Amino acid sequence: MDIQSVAVLGSGTMGAGIAQVCAQVGCDVALCDISEEVAARGLAGIERFLNKGVDRGKVTPEERDATLARIRITEDVVDAVRGVQLVVEAAPEELSLKRDIFLRVADASPEDAILATNTSSLPISQVAEGNHAAPRIVGMPFFNPVPLMKLLELVVGEQTAPETTAAALAFGERLGKEVITVRDAPGFASSRLGICIAMEAIRMVEQEVASPEDIDRAMVFGYSHPMGPLRLTDLVGLDVRMAIAEHLAEALDAPHFEPPALLRRMVDEGRLGKKSGRGFYDWEG
Ligand code: NAD
Repeated sequence: MDIQSVAVLGSGTMGAGIAQVCAQVGCDVALCDISEEVAARGLAGIERFLNKGVDRGKVTPEERDATLARIRITEDVVDAVRGVQLVVEAAPEELSLKRDIFLRVADASPEDAILATNTSSLPISQVAEGNHAAPRIVGMPFFNPVPLMKLLELVVGEQTAPETTAAALAFGERLGKEVITVRDAPGFASSRLGICIAMEAIRMVEQEVASPEDIDRAMVFGYSHPMGPLRLTDLVGLDVRMAIAEHLAEALDAPHFEPPALLRRMVDEGRLGKKSGRGFYDWEG
């Protein structure tokens, strides 16, 4: 299937980026949010991103204008998904909300449309539960910022049909992404590995194995990671990573995901990383 028309539901951080990359490869995109005003903010963000690209010589003014011309905004889900070949949902991370959206979309979109969710942690099989379109539902969590990050995880739910996975994979590659295919398991591939390394790095700080700087340098210079796990935790937010670790510890029944006492203490003290000025590093100076 050569996908030419896409609906993106949710125009926040992720939805705007997804709409942009789809329009940049030539698709017509309907960008939908709870009101036209909110969707217009998403579109304005895309314009700013493309303008920066023009300033840096990465995007031509013609490409920017053509990309923007392919995106229309709407507040009406039924209107957004009518006649499209792919729907990508990027609404807030709430199971009941996503289920409701997919029930509406299943009835309002063409019978052969691929229905993707950008969920970063919810099981695809639960999002698709009770939905007659379940074979067409697949997980497609992009990474932030979408136009710059290369990885795309394709999450295959219990009921996802092989043709759905194949079509989503082909489209991801057309977007220039490195696509990996993952079974619908907690933390998919990237969160599970990333959080595992981060929790162990924090335990190593706790046990005074080495300083945070040197633990990060072990991964940067020994394993060519672009950034060490503790600096990354500071950037993402200690509270955010702790919540994911708690979820994985429970969902996988795996004690090595249990947040170390040091992490809990730092979160309690409000040392959340860059956003609070201090984490494993001092961000105020
Ligand atoms: P966000 O809060 O920036 O945007 C969500 C948007 O959805 C908002 O504009 C909101 O108004 C809109 N919305 C709410 N209800 C809606 C509805 N019924 N229909 C259409 N739009 C609706 O959130 P985000 O960071 O873009 O995250 C969206 C999804 O992507 C979540 O599932 C999140 O877990 C996932 N995700 C986020 C990241 C990230 O780094 N931010 C990375 C991967 C996946």
